[in-house]
Amino acid sequence: MITCTRKIEFDAAHRIINHESKCKMLHGHRYSLEATFTSKELDNLGRVIDFGVIKEVLGSWIDNNLDHNTILSIKDKVLGDSITAQTNQEIYYIKENPTAENIAKHIFEEICPKLFADKDVKCVAIRLFETPNCYSDVK
Ligand SMILES: [Zn+2]
Repeated sequence: MITCTRKIEFDAAHRIINHESKCKMLHGHRYSLEATFTSKELDNLGRVIDFGVIKEVLGSWIDNNLDHNTILSIKDKVLGDSITAQTNQEIYYIKENPTAENIAKHIFEEICPKLFADKDVKCVAIRLFETPNCYSDVK
């Protein structure tokens, strides 16, 4: 299988409800996401997909939804509503606790299939670094 991977970085805040330690506090990360794609065959130039197209499609979505935003669980709506009331910020909610695993899973299962539905590629992996030393893979 031939794949191509594009790295996209963004800054976001989150907190983990019921975390045993400091991660229950609202805090931020410089996230680094690696999105891997494959296609049935290479295009006539020899590519799975142009790296620029991944940046344009997924990068724009990340820029509009996650970058410089706060990612919270829908179970954390009281905090989210309070931030929105203070800052007018549109919080990005996911179903589960916003761990690296769950954010990666959300992007892999719900976002990439929609964003690339009209392209001849399939997202086969999302790797999300929460810190330079810690990441989660969803395949
Ligand atoms: Zn964190």
